[in-house]
Amino acid sequence: TRVLLTGASGFIATHILDILFAHGHSVRITVRSEEKAQKIVSAYPEHADKLDYVIVPDIAAAGAFDKAVQSEPPFEAVLHTASPFHFRVTDIRKDLLDPAINGTTGILHAIKKYAPSVKRVVITSSFASIIDPTKGTRPGHVYSEADWNPVTIEEATRDPGTGYRASKTLAEKSAWNFVEDEKPNFEISTINPPLVFGPIKEYSSSSLDAINTSNEVFRNIVQGKYKEKLPPNGTYVWVDVRDVAAAHVAAFEKPEAAGKRFFIVEGSYFSNQQIADIIVKNFPEYKDQVPAQREANDGFNYKEGEIYTVDNSRSKQVLGLKYHTFEQSVVDTIKSLKALGL
Ligand code: NDP
Repeated sequence: TRVLLTGASGFIATHILDILFAHGHSVRITVRSEEKAQKIVSAYPEHADKLDYVIVPDIAAAGAFDKAVQSEPPFEAVLHTASPFHFRVTDIRKDLLDPAINGTTGILHAIKKYAPSVKRVVITSSFASIIDPTKGTRPGHVYSEADWNPVTIEEATRDPGTGYRASKTLAEKSAWNFVEDEKPNFEISTINPPLVFGPIKEYSSSSLDAINTSNEVFRNIVQGKYKEKLPPNGTYVWVDVRDVAAAHVAAFEKPEAAGKRFFIVEGSYFSNQQIADIIVKNFPEYKDQVPAQREANDGFNYKEGEIYTVDNSRSKQVLGLKYHTFEQSVVDTIKSLKALGL
């Protein structure tokens, strides 16, 4: 299948690219610069005949994807992952909302107009579009694909955390609305993961300082930044990047995934103390930097029964996902950070 993958320099997208090649697909990627394109191309010499690229410097710009979606042979599937996930923002609208929302509606318009052969568009959304943060830890509630974050555009500019969650929620909503209003030739699926952990590809990160947002906690723990006190968890559920990547590919390969959201979540809780404990167990060389194991539950900021649970059954039934374990994910993340010089 001929596939377009946006935001290919990203943490999750680099793993999607691996699976696309393993399944024999032909891929065009979009990235923001020639330098990023070259890094990726040189990482896959064996797939050179199945990889090309188009530079899209700003996904929020009008018509940003018009050229990228036009290909010979034509595309059958598009995976749209590009969206800002960081909190270094000065202007929430310009830095977070516009690229997320306009980027999503922009690519859908471009596909409808210039790429009528596309049958399926898979969009990287988030647990941020599912969770209702105003309800706190919400004991007794089971989060699933049926839930929507009720955040509004007016609330979106309150603070960067709300801004990020709103950017994902409003981008996903605009995609479902697009399908309903515009009735294009394609169907969409969305992939909604919570915090994503797992190995970083060496070519995708220039330095330890520049690693992706959701893996920063690993680097900070091992560098001793939290030796005295771990930060409280912002969220309690997680998933491995390789499972998120597999979900994106299964979502366009499987016809029955059309028109569905997928909550991609391993299912068990984690705490930052558990990350620290697994690091000490598997990498004793870091034990002096890492916060020591506490008494039972001290340092864990949740207790069973005090927090929502999650339902990942659709991801297993429709996409056939099998999830990596937490320990495997932590170990592989640290190994990849070592390769970056940790
Ligand atoms: P990364 O920051 O590694 O990847 C983000 C990608 O989007 C990069 O390729 C980045 O390009 C691109 N991008 C961001 N802003 C723009 C812009 N304005 N114009 C063009 N390209 C842009 O993060 P992840 O891989 O984690 O994120 C990928 C997707 O997954 C995002 O949609 C994110 O919201 C979603 N997600 C991530 C979660 C996580 O915990 N990691 C959880 C839930 C959802 P560049 O490399 O040039 O900056």
